[in-house]
Amino acid sequence: MTTTIAILGTGLMGAKAAKRLLSLGNIVRCWNRTVEKSDRLAELGAVPCATPAEAVHGVQVVVLFLADAAAIRSVLLEDESVRLKLKDKTVLQMGTIGPKESEALAVDIIAAGGSYVEAPVLGSQPEAEKGTLLVMVGAEADPRDPASPHHGTVWPLLRALGQEPNIHYIGPVGTGAAVKLALNQLIASLTVGFSTSLGLVQRSGADVDKFMSILRASALYAPTYDKKLQKMLDRDYGAAKFPTKHLLKDVRLFETEAAAAGLDTRLLAALKGVVQDTVDRGLANTDYSAVFDAVAYPAPGGEQQSAAAKQ
Ligand code: NAP
Repeated sequence: MTTTIAILGTGLMGAKAAKRLLSLGNIVRCWNRTVEKSDRLAELGAVPCATPAEAVHGVQVVVLFLADAAAIRSVLLEDESVRLKLKDKTVLQMGTIGPKESEALAVDIIAAGGSYVEAPVLGSQPEAEKGTLLVMVGAEADPRDPASPHHGTVWPLLRALGQEPNIHYIGPVGTGAAVKLALNQLIASLTVGFSTSLGLVQRSGADVDKFMSILRASALYAPTYDKKLQKMLDRDYGAAKFPTKHLLKDVRLFETEAAAAGLDTRLLAALKGVVQDTVDRGLANTDYSAVFDAVAYPAPGGEQQSAAAKQ
């Protein structure tokens, strides 16, 4: 079954999601603040629109791949020409935002006559393009249930972008966002933790290959270490699939949620400092493995600058 969709936000993830949904025969209207990014999707069969209001006109589902909750509010709710068009439409929010932010959006979208499903994802551009994202759904009911009001509209889209058994109904709106943030906290802590150990191994003069062999054979290993190792050794982090600036956003969001939940946030404050330092070095748009620079070369500038920051 094909669906008429608007995608608002055709950055790194939104563009790949658009490509995947188009390849399955859906009608995709798209809008992006920087118009070149939505215009270039015309060659794949999308309908680029000059405004968000034009993009949402006549669609069943409005898919969001915008950076954060502030961007969503300004695009969807603060512009009356868009808000008034949300009546009887479903907003499918797929970016990473905080649980409270997601709950507040649901309230305002329902007040505008629409309905709301959160479905943040784990995985990056290749997974979006192949339709193999891990999806965490927060909604009034599981959209895979034929009795759900979103079964006919949202479920085919989730199945296009993610694959069973990796589309998980978590619970009411907010719970999907919480699980997504919990996973992204691990992206930050595992990457900063690995960077710190790798830095010490290098400084000690021990052989990095031997360190990695022991790590791989241990219970401490995570595949992300090997994915990021060469970038760290070269200090050349490359174009981002998931940029450092969004990792900073997510660590901040997690810290806020953790504080509200009464958790100890000392580790989070330190993680935030490291990721902020990375962004301050001009590495906001590189792959987030650039946190290695902040950890292993703590004095900014001069000869210690990485290849990426010099570009
Ligand atoms: P991105 O390329 O930076 O895209 C962000 C999008 O938001 C762009 O379309 C950008 O427009 C738009 N935007 C930002 N601020 C705006 C504003 N004030 N008004 C209107 N539009 C605004 O990032 P992305 O990687 O696609 O990420 C999108 C969301 O998915 C984020 O929440 C991110 O955390 C999440 N996510 C990303 C990945 C990944 O691997 N990349 C994976 C899972 C989840 P411009 O193009 O004009 O800047």
